[in-house]
Amino acid sequence: MKLVKPSIEFLWLTPDPLITIEEAGRTCYKSEGNIHVGSAAKFVQKLLDRGHHAMIEHASASYRVTCDRGVTHEIVRHRLFSYGQESTRFCNYKSGVTFIIPPWTKHMPAENAHTCTEDQVRQSIHTPECRWLFAIQVAEQEYIQLLDDGWTPQQARSVLPNSLKTEIIMTANLREWRHFFSLRCTPKSIPVEKKVNGIFYGAGAPHSQMQEIANMLLKDIRGKVPVLFDEF
Ligand SMILES: Cc1cc2nc3c(=O)[nH]c(=O)nc-3n(C[C@H](O)[C@H](O)[C@H](O)COP(=O)(O)OP(=O)(O)OC[C@H]3O[C@@H](n4cnc5c(N)ncnc54)[C@H](O)[C@@H]3O)c2cc1C
Repeated sequence: MKLVKPSIEFLWLTPDPLITIEEAGRTCYKSEGNIHVGSAAKFVQKLLDRGHHAMIEHASASYRVTCDRGVTHEIVRHRLFSYGQESTRFCNYKSGVTFIIPPWTKHMPAENAHTCTEDQVRQSIHTPECRWLFAIQVAEQEYIQLLDDGWTPQQARSVLPNSLKTEIIMTANLREWRHFFSLRCTPKSIPVEKKVNGIFYGAGAPHSQMQEIANMLLKDIRGKVPVLFDEF
């Protein structure tokens, strides 16, 4: 058994995304003559202010996200993304299953296989973390046993939990990325004192593990594309 933290990996971005968007936008107004070094950011800000967001669709980005299956179940509800996801039908975890550490658990270092016995759960160390470890441990044992009994990976997967690690490639235009962040990041309006490690656990918020991923993606893309993601 392996425990890992969720992560993201940048894959691809339209080269010079703001310039690409400016070229598309200025075609509408036939103002290409106003393109000069440094004009793109100001022009794109104007597009945002006017609500002319269709122009933002001319730039796209791709990321690899490593998270649990519960989170990808939510991610794939965003219909305008293109996806490629690790398959529990075709991948065989006979040599060990990897699980994602939830952000609210304590004392669970990444890349470290822990164990927790049934006795510990029943008697002394009945912390939620111990119970969770025990549950995923049993899921792994039974998954491998089912493979040994002759079930295929796509049959044995039925005992694997939401905490199963998965990888998903997400590709979309920047308008859709903005929409994704507007729904899935920790809302900017939440005061710092109401967050735990940058995540808001209150009612109505996106799921904390979704916030974890969306916040990472936003931070990364904001560092690569000026203007477009400043408001989130
Ligand atoms: C906090 C939170 C809680 C949620 N809880 C639940 C829940 O309990 N149960 C549940 O089932 N889902 C839940 N969802 C998922 C939610 O219902 C949406 O499926 C998900 O957020 C994708 O949103 P979207 O459709 O706006 O985005 P996308 O699929 O990314 O689409 C982007 C935009 O394109 C347009 N669009 C896309 N497809 C169409 C279409 N067919 N017709 C018209 N316009 C379209 C819309 O303007 C849409 O906003 C939750 C989401 C959040 C953020």
